[in-house]
Amino acid sequence: MNDLTTRTISIFGATGSVGTSTLDLIRLDRGKYRVVALTAHSNAAELAKLAKEFEAEIAVVADPEQYEALKQLLAGSQTEAAAGPDQLISAAALDPDWTMAAIVGCAGLPPTLAALKCGKTVALANKEALVSAGALMMAQAREAGATLLPVDSEHNAIFQCLQGGRIDQVRKITLTASGGPFRSWSKEQMASVTPEQAVAHPNWDMGAKISVDSATMMNKGLELIEAHHLFPVGLKNIDILVHPQSVIHSMVEYHDRSTLAQLGSPDMRIPIASALAWPERMKTDCLPLDLSKIGKLDFEAPDDDRFPAIKLARGAIEAGGAVPAILNATNEIAVAAFLKGNIQFLEITEIVSRMVDSYSPPDPDDLADIFAIDTETRKRAKAMIEDVKV
Ligand code: NAD
Ligand code: MG
Repeated sequence: MNDLTTRTISIFGATGSVGTSTLDLIRLDRGKYRVVALTAHSNAAELAKLAKEFEAEIAVVADPEQYEALKQLLAGSQTEAAAGPDQLISAAALDPDWTMAAIVGCAGLPPTLAALKCGKTVALANKEALVSAGALMMAQAREAGATLLPVDSEHNAIFQCLQGGRIDQVRKITLTASGGPFRSWSKEQMASVTPEQAVAHPNWDMGAKISVDSATMMNKGLELIEAHHLFPVGLKNIDILVHPQSVIHSMVEYHDRSTLAQLGSPDMRIPIASALAWPERMKTDCLPLDLSKIGKLDFEAPDDDRFPAIKLARGAIEAGGAVPAILNATNEIAVAAFLKGNIQFLEITEIVSRMVDSYSPPDPDDLADIFAIDTETRKRAKAMIEDVKV
């Protein structure tokens, strides 16, 4: 990696919650970074605004229909406009020192793999890519000599706690979970929750998809799969603990029974800053942790009956093969359908469970197989949703 004063940087998903938080941190010390690529799904106006402010070399909008709009908005600026999924991959291969992978969903997989191929540093927020193609991604990172820095607050916490020992000295990893907005709700109460209620997370301000995932606790299921790939301690040595205040972001227990935990205010800019400045530390203006104000920290075991998602994810890792990719793709479609008002909240995990039980393609060997499974799962999930549509 280059000297921090000249770090080149790209942000995939620059207009999203993680993307804009990353740019907020860059604003704190603008002179340290040179922005190579910024990308967005379809919001050309927002992307162009950011590209101009950060003097990006290239701005890529995934939706090809937005190309003309982006080109016009960037006319006269120093930023080149590009569009389409292939251009996302080309932009990821521009070889910056540091890339933020913050696209939501499996759509982020191809550019993230391309960024890993460069052999530099990739900060990973895009958990769905790792869930669908974890083995492939980890192999790509190893082969290219890339550094993968976890941005998800729990995984970033574990990464920091692992500075206190070695992975082979770990006895147990504990992923903490807030429990989401319906932590203490009965199934009957959850049956009629609205998208507005589900996206209103008590502690974190996040994009819509991950907020619904937090409400179903599928987010923790996806994070379990994510942790399984990032920290090879064995699935049975990764626990989940509900901790409603979201102050302890995760813990690592070593063989000597020392447990290291990472704490902080529930603000994604803190783990992002840790990845952005790594291996240094940067100053942020985030709220400092005031435990005397918080008073007490609570913990409880997750309830598999009301929140079956964690069990589904554990089963998906044990089954291996295509199952994690099927779980992820079905969940993406089911969450989108719930947000549109087409299915009920509890049906999200029911549909995932039915799909995992009913679709068993052969194990994927490569990326093409994973995409074929992802595409077929989405088709089947949409058909399943048509049947249960409210
Ligand atoms: P978001 O919805 O706010 O932003 C997503 C970004 O990806 C946007 O820039 C959007 O334009 C882009 N995008 C969406 N679909 C795309 C597509 N098909 N092709 C290309 N670009 C596309 O999401 P977010 O909350 O910032 O989350 C991003 C990722 O980070 C997710 O994987 C999420 O699970 C993970 N994450 C988020 C948080 C958080 O606090 N928001 C915390 C931990 C992990
Ligand atoms: Mg998380």
